[in-house]
Amino acid sequence: MSGLEEACRQDLAEREEAGFLRRREARAPSRLPRLRLGGRRLVGFASNDYLGLATDARVARALARAARRWGAGAAAAATLGGYSEAHASLEEALARAVGRPRALVFSTGYMANLGLLGAFVPRGRRVYADRLDHASILDAARLAGARLTRYPHGDTEALARLLAGGPAGEGPPLIVSESVFSMEGDRAPLPGLVACARAAGATLVIDDAHGFGVLGPEGGGCLPEGGWSEEDVPLYVATLGKAVGVFGAFVAGSEAVVETLVQRARTALFTTALPPALCAAATEALVLLRTEDWRRRRLFAHVERFRRGLAERGLPLPPGRGPIQPLVVGSPARALALSARLRTAGYYVPAVRPPTVPPGTSRLRVSLSALHDARDIDGLLDALAESWGAAGAAVP
Ligand SMILES: *Cc1c(COP(=O)(O)O)cnc(C)c1O
Repeated sequence: MSGLEEACRQDLAEREEAGFLRRREARAPSRLPRLRLGGRRLVGFASNDYLGLATDARVARALARAARRWGAGAAAAATLGGYSEAHASLEEALARAVGRPRALVFSTGYMANLGLLGAFVPRGRRVYADRLDHASILDAARLAGARLTRYPHGDTEALARLLAGGPAGEGPPLIVSESVFSMEGDRAPLPGLVACARAAGATLVIDDAHGFGVLGPEGGGCLPEGGWSEEDVPLYVATLGKAVGVFGAFVAGSEAVVETLVQRARTALFTTALPPALCAAATEALVLLRTEDWRRRRLFAHVERFRRGLAERGLPLPPGRGPIQPLVVGSPARALALSARLRTAGYYVPAVRPPTVPPGTSRLRVSLSALHDARDIDGLLDALAESWGAAGAAVP
């Protein structure tokens, strides 16, 4: 056996033993949040498709129509001919949606964060990131060669102390936070973050991956929701793969900031541009997201119904009032056991384990969609109540 082969086998065995092994399962086509998995029909409570746009027929038709016009691929990087009218229209619509002069599309949110920090963080510059910030933000800071300080989750007093204690003469630091935390579901203290950044002369970056489409009037995200200006939040990132239901991501900001990104973001310069058909699909999804307010109303009604149901059944209450409602259960084994029981009852709720979440906080990450109905929510609540004690007794 080769050294690599041996190391892989050992690593996999250790992961399995610790309850950290992740599995991909190929699902059959279905209209989300319904799932067809392993020959069974399940109700999914796992996706980030909060508004039900990922399998919307109009979005799919827009994709197909644009694919007939543009073909499958962009064929080049954006600055070498890959950029199209479909990209330009999408960027205009995105800038308008969040109330910024300009937006730049990236292939994924992961790449947007890498490109953004790479462009604006000189080596050795200090970056302050929330303890629970997404892996892409931490990777981006590391790749940029930043001096990374992780501040306690949502704690702006601690952040202010860290900023005040930072060495002078290093150049203005960056503060990076998610708006809605992806595994916790709670909100960042934006007023406090804006105040911290202003006091320290720092640049605030907000990753609104789970807020864009869901928050604010017409789903424009946390910027229009809070009325935050370009000075308050100069750099804004969001993805098109979550509430928008398609694929891709963008950064929005001033004319000069976005043009600088066009010049400097390596994950936009040295990669194939997003397929034009995907841009057209995202543009169509943006129209639906803006005009169909019932999706947000229904989503938030489900959130309240779910939380009421948890309280009535004596189950733990998650910290946020958004579509991400995680139930922390502790050990990976217990999270897996609960997830398996829910699946038997017809509900797909994945167990999220370290390193996605801190050790000891493995959880069921329940995420709600506008396309669930009241019966789905109540059924999940009953299954949760029934499994909670049983799985707890079976697994430490
Ligand atoms: C999902 C997510 C990303 C990555 O977005 P993709 O488009 O899926 O690559 C970035 N930041 C946060 C906070 C996320 O939740």
